[in-house]
Amino acid sequence: MSNAPKNSKETAPAVSPAANFIRNIIDADLAAGKHARRHWSGKPGLAQQHLAGALDPARIRTRFPPEPNGYLHFGHAKSICLNFGLARDYGGRCHLRFDDTNPEKEEKEYVDSIVEAVRWLGFSWQDEKENNLYYASDYFDWMVACAEYLIESGNAYVDSQSADEMRSNRGTLTESGTDSPYRKRGPEENMLLFRRMQAGEFPDGAHILRARIDMASPNINLRDPAIYRIRHAEHHNTGNRWCVYPMYTFAHPIEDALENITHSICTLEFEDQRPFYDWLLERLAEGGLLQRPLPQQIEFSRLNLTYVVLSKRKLIQLVEEKHVSGWDDPRMPTLVGARRRGYTPEGFHLFAERIGVSKADSLIDYTLFEDCMREVLNESSERRVAVLDPLKLIVDNYPQGQSEECFAPNHPLKPELGKRAMPFGRELWIEREDFMDEPVKGYHRLYPGNTARLRHGFVVKCTGCDKDENGNVIAVHCDYLPDSKSGTPGADNYKVKGNLHWVSAAGAYQAEVRLYDRLFINPAPGSDDRYFLDDLNPNSVRVITAQLEPALKKAKPEERFQFERHGYFVADHTDSRDGAPVFNRTVTLKDSWGKAGK
Ligand code: ATP
Ligand code: MG
Repeated sequence: MSNAPKNSKETAPAVSPAANFIRNIIDADLAAGKHARRHWSGKPGLAQQHLAGALDPARIRTRFPPEPNGYLHFGHAKSICLNFGLARDYGGRCHLRFDDTNPEKEEKEYVDSIVEAVRWLGFSWQDEKENNLYYASDYFDWMVACAEYLIESGNAYVDSQSADEMRSNRGTLTESGTDSPYRKRGPEENMLLFRRMQAGEFPDGAHILRARIDMASPNINLRDPAIYRIRHAEHHNTGNRWCVYPMYTFAHPIEDALENITHSICTLEFEDQRPFYDWLLERLAEGGLLQRPLPQQIEFSRLNLTYVVLSKRKLIQLVEEKHVSGWDDPRMPTLVGARRRGYTPEGFHLFAERIGVSKADSLIDYTLFEDCMREVLNESSERRVAVLDPLKLIVDNYPQGQSEECFAPNHPLKPELGKRAMPFGRELWIEREDFMDEPVKGYHRLYPGNTARLRHGFVVKCTGCDKDENGNVIAVHCDYLPDSKSGTPGADNYKVKGNLHWVSAAGAYQAEVRLYDRLFINPAPGSDDRYFLDDLNPNSVRVITAQLEPALKKAKPEERFQFERHGYFVADHTDSRDGAPVFNRTVTLKDSWGKAGK
């Protein structure tokens, strides 16, 4: 059966996709040949159009159906990886469908960013034969035809009760509803009224088209749900052509059927809608409008992550009230934010595979997400050196004005990536924490009298430090051991315990670096009746000026590196200029959250 998401660092990397309850359903359907006889006209359509086409070459069809009313977030990434991943693995197709049936809310800006985000995640709705990018608003004529068929067949009626009356007649979870006085209207009267609704003869809310099912149903969603409403509003795609718009619960199943979707995967809150989904499609198939077999709705639990909010409303509030710099702020759990933060598409794939799919509500630990990113970045990122809290180290016995090259491997596990030269000179930058005037017990880095290795360079012996009038250390002094250079014969004769990174002051690239922390300090922001904004982390970003090795000056936007000891960083694609990249920390090397000292 379903393999529950394992929220554990021990989970083995996914080699092949793990079985889950959705794959089990698809396996059984394929084994039974359930969808093998479907026809496909090459584009969405009613039964008659599809039946004129050849057999559907796609073994299954799934879809990702965002409403273009916001930016995609990490939860959407789970759904994208799931739907596109299933289509890929089963020789199927996944459609990108904009569910834009609601006239007021959609915007072009969101459409563009969704297209970009799905592509960034590495998926495509297009191949040499098909381009499966669709807009639900292109189906309005078919939806009206479906609604009119329901009227003709006695399965829908125009209700003229006020919204308040409808609400009070709907009943409750324990009491059945009451029939509307308009429920007995016959097909001719209903058709006339629905046509007049379409012609714009009535104001918003004057009438509504409802399915005629059962006002006494224990499932409230089957108590004659509304299917078409009057709305005098301009639509971004259809302009002023329509003044009636379908309800989501009516539109969505029809969109699936028109597109030949076999497995319509959605989040659990739609479970109670499934009986209506099936009722509606059955009626329309009986009437010959839709091809059988009909799509099957399958629900899975949505992604919830600790320290993150994924509600569109809350994300909008963070942006509008300027708690973040925008939708693409690297602290935002949006895909545009993730991209700027340096998270990778491969990391999202790994994460989606690890958390799996199930029907159990679960809260995934943010460290699981970060571990997936670290795993991918460790493999793919070249190493570089950066000093984030610079302190001057002066090598007093190294000749003034001289410099030489030291060589550092670009990737410790991939010798084929070669080495790069780092200049060594008399003045270097080291981390402030790598020197202690009075060392604590167990401290092996620089302190007067101690020797330590400058990684990829020389062994140095610390001789002392300079202080300002307040006693702050402003420079450290040392002597280097000329025969200790890394990679030269005899270098290994020096056994030292401390190993520190450094950057030559002469060639260093001084750059802005942003160190991010979680946006919220509470694992469940806004839980226990707190206001979610009260859980904002006041220190979620720190902007510093760091000294970087010269090679980093040439980093291209979105190029990612491991800065040794400090974590994974990316050149910010918005704020970097040619030859002057700015870096964002994606994630530290180890999980340091909640632990003291970092
Ligand atoms: P809202 O309903 O607030 O407008 P939404 O997040 O449901 O927002 P949609 O654009 O309707 O946004 O979502 C597109 C698809 O993404 C849907 O199929 C939905 O089920 C899926 N999805 C949204 N949020 C999550 C989540 N947290 N985890 C998994 N899938 C999600
Ligand atoms: Mg939604």
